[in-house]
Amino acid sequence: MSEPLTYSYYGGSAHRWPPQPRLDGDRYCDVVVIGGGFTGLAAALACAERGFSVILLEKEKIAFGASGRNGGQLIPGLRWTASELEKDFGPERADALFELCWRQNRVKARIQKHNIDCDLKAGHLEAAWTSADFDAMRREAEYLSARFGYQSDVVAKPGMGAHIGSKLYHGGIYDLQGGHFHPINYAIGLGKAALAAGVNILEDCRAFGVEDGVQPVVSALGGAIRASHVILAADSWMSEIWMRDGEPRLGRYTVPIMNYNIATAPLANADTLLPSDAAVADSRFVLNYFRLSADKRLIFGGGERYSQTPPRDIAAFVRPFMAQVFPQIADAKIDYGWGGAVAVTMNRLPHIGRRGNVFYAHGFSGHGALVTTLAGELIAEAMAGTAERFDVLANLPSKPFPGGKWLRRPLATLGLLYYAMKDKLG
Ligand SMILES: Cc1cc2nc3c(=O)[nH]c(=O)nc-3n(C[C@H](O)[C@H](O)[C@H](O)COP(=O)(O)OP(=O)(O)OC[C@H]3O[C@@H](n4cnc5c(N)ncnc54)[C@H](O)[C@@H]3O)c2cc1C
Repeated sequence: MSEPLTYSYYGGSAHRWPPQPRLDGDRYCDVVVIGGGFTGLAAALACAERGFSVILLEKEKIAFGASGRNGGQLIPGLRWTASELEKDFGPERADALFELCWRQNRVKARIQKHNIDCDLKAGHLEAAWTSADFDAMRREAEYLSARFGYQSDVVAKPGMGAHIGSKLYHGGIYDLQGGHFHPINYAIGLGKAALAAGVNILEDCRAFGVEDGVQPVVSALGGAIRASHVILAADSWMSEIWMRDGEPRLGRYTVPIMNYNIATAPLANADTLLPSDAAVADSRFVLNYFRLSADKRLIFGGGERYSQTPPRDIAAFVRPFMAQVFPQIADAKIDYGWGGAVAVTMNRLPHIGRRGNVFYAHGFSGHGALVTTLAGELIAEAMAGTAERFDVLANLPSKPFPGGKWLRRPLATLGLLYYAMKDKLG
């Protein structure tokens, strides 16, 4: 589905990760984790810390999926605003969701605990594409402050120059609780911590299916593994893993939307583009998101494709979006271009839950850099017997996409194209 990471800035600047063995014969353990992205790695590590014996299966290398391809933007919360959550789910659930998804920064805690070197920087700016967007942002910031005591800076248009060297935006919200990081190096840090905690990470090892039951069995390339629990953390690839009776058919809950990133060559004027070194995401439906790397490249994501085929020239595809925001670097040299699949749910909230002894978490809808670590850790907590916090996420509503196997993607695409068109019309 996604192309290799060869041309990714992250792949090119990744710390050393020793190749892990393949599965060689049948095994037994307490927990099998399928998928070596943030969700799977965080879950595996947290399970091992609780004394479970854990085998993690990754069909390629760890961080092969979205976790190794994303914009590195750490944005507190979920795709819904806190006021939307409160409106739909009531004050009690809003409190619980706020506590977990805004207040807790498990990524920062992991980085500190394991001393992970991944260029962590504080500061996230949500930039308003229209003045109506800015009004809505300001109202939400006021609500967050009054309701939860959550502080962020409302930046009116004249003040935007302190954060961004672009005249496009109508204001924004600067949040020091957000920030950015180098995603592959974070994943490698989690992977090393997991190995040190005793997790068996097996690479080039595709899981084919799960026979669930009291002791589920995972069949995989190289053997079968019997376990007490299984964690499905394969995100955009969930539909490729069969379950004995076809349920819960997790693949029906997401569609993969391809999204592309570029990294320029290091820029002499980088600090004039983003003077406060914040990560920026704008308020368009097909959003632009960008930030500086530690070596002063602009990493820019923009434009979505509803076809799975990547553009022949990723740099040429993304450059116009970058040039619209930063005309001063319209012709900058682009060193890397890469893409990945964002697993999007119907309502843009993650789909998390359990069915018997099989847990799952996927569909973070482009907002997974922070919440995936939380989800993985809460699965381990639930497995160890305390499900209260896991249930806060597991109780989020979810619906499969309509249309069955063949129509699901075209129908979802039509809906997304409609909103993309609205963006263009302003
Ligand atoms: C281009 C892009 C930009 C993004 N930008 C941001 C951002 O700036 N901020 C943000 O918050 N979120 C962003 N996201 C979303 C975020 O990256 C994801 O939500 C998050 O990484 C999902 O992590 P995961 O571990 O659940 O899934 P993944 O990282 O996709 O991991 C799934 C893993 O499972 C493995 N796998 C699949 N099938 C099998 C199988 N059968 N057997 C064994 N292994 C299997 C895959 O190889 C993969 O490594 C972005 C996503 C993309 C694609």
